[in-house]
Amino acid sequence: MATRLIVAIDGPAGAGKSTTARMLAAALGYALLDTGAIYRVMALRARERGIAWDDGPGVAALADGLNISFKLEGSVNRVFTDGHDLGTSIRTPEISDGASRVSALPEVRAALLDLQRRIGAAGGVVVEGRDIGTVVFPHAEAKFFLTASADERARRRVAELRAAGRPAELDTTRAELMARDERDSTRAAAPLRKADDALEIDSSALNPAEVVARMAAVVAERTAERTR
Ligand code: C5P
Repeated sequence: MATRLIVAIDGPAGAGKSTTARMLAAALGYALLDTGAIYRVMALRARERGIAWDDGPGVAALADGLNISFKLEGSVNRVFTDGHDLGTSIRTPEISDGASRVSALPEVRAALLDLQRRIGAAGGVVVEGRDIGTVVFPHAEAKFFLTASADERARRRVAELRAAGRPAELDTTRAELMARDERDSTRAAAPLRKADDALEIDSSALNPAEVVARMAAVVAERTAERTR
């Protein structure tokens, strides 16, 4: 049977993780695990149930019986809870902020660790997030840390929001990204950082296909090493 690896892609918001992870998963015939979507679902659930985003035990309890699934359809990775398609409700700037807040709570991270590991354990999966190569899958066979300049990341996020029919201004979006990066990088629990053995790719001047080609070459190399 073909060797199927765990591929970790971490990096700050707007660096192109979602696009490249999706393209890489499709190219390899791998599943795609978007861990940011899980934190987004937690933020949405908390808001719906009137639980404050800084209530660690309260938000963590929402992970009990969380039945989340994904379906990659063309360029869209659909997210479902209990079979219900969440659509773009978890992609609003408000929920981005909420996800970043709830993800800083150690109780919430602990509650979601097993869930992420269970989904990815069999391999043959591209996992994108902030702490995949450092905490969730420290033994992932291929690890990438994707970055881009703050201006480029803000520009991409504005284009993405506008394409989804949402109003977005460059300055506000840039400030929101910076605030999220700052919180994600400075929190005590599993902060955003490059794993020592991750390959850093600056995507500022690369298109998604170029990034994916670099990643695919590394995955091919690692797969060959494991089949020798
Ligand atoms: O990747 P995405 O922008 O959807 O992630 C939303 C938020 O979830 C991030 O800003 C980050 O705070 C959090 N997150 C995390 N760890 C992950 C994935 C996402 O803390 N593995």
